[in-house]
Amino acid sequence: MIEILALPAFDDNYIWLLRAAGCVAVVDPGDAVPVLGHLAKTGDRLCAIFATHHHGDHVGGIAELLDRFPVPVFGPALENIPGMTHPQSGGEHIEVPEIGVEFEVIAVPGHTRGHIAYYEPSLAGHGAVFCGDTLFGAGCGRLFEGTPAQMYLSLTRLAALPASTHVYCAHEYTQSNLRFAAAVEPGSIAVKQRSEHVAESRAAGRATIPTSIALELDTNPFLRWDAPAVRAAAASRLGHAPLDAVETFTAIREWKNHF
Ligand code: ZN
Ligand code: FE
Repeated sequence: MIEILALPAFDDNYIWLLRAAGCVAVVDPGDAVPVLGHLAKTGDRLCAIFATHHHGDHVGGIAELLDRFPVPVFGPALENIPGMTHPQSGGEHIEVPEIGVEFEVIAVPGHTRGHIAYYEPSLAGHGAVFCGDTLFGAGCGRLFEGTPAQMYLSLTRLAALPASTHVYCAHEYTQSNLRFAAAVEPGSIAVKQRSEHVAESRAAGRATIPTSIALELDTNPFLRWDAPAVRAAAASRLGHAPLDAVETFTAIREWKNHF
């Protein structure tokens, strides 16, 4: 039985731990301190480190963890990841026998040029994807190194995963993202209901992550390039009807940058 734990870090990051039989794999340890705290408290040992991309809030703790635990480090081949032993470019399968998971690596460039996601199709019966700063609750990552067309393609890959898949992103941005989602689709009941639910969760100090592919398909404007209301919002930004889904996505992403 695998447990997935969120370790809050910095202002709004989550470091994800996958835990079974006294072993722990960690995704995006931007800070070593909470991870070492977990290991000290439980007596678990670290068995693998996974990085989705090179930003400091995702990899800043790796060197310190490696000082204590010389474990394999998986990360994007195109990026500079401290201590990386197993560079990945997408399409690979990674077995972590200690905790009994097998990840499939999905290339999701856009936020950074080599960004990858780790997908486990059978985890806890519904599947799970650890997607860093690509897909967020009701949002998506900023385009620092990639083009909108690249990010669009990356998001289509995540959107195509089974609807039941749980989405473990790296930031608690859902509530502010939903304010934007409501501006894009003011008539959406799904966005309104999710906003109410998320407001309750945050008021109670609960995480809004994991989310699911199904919920994102219903409420995330960055996956809803075919929805008439999203196309209409893009059209009003562009001054003409969007030619295709990429143009819709590009216009909505651009709007969010100034929202
Ligand atoms: Zn980032
Ligand atoms: Fe980040």
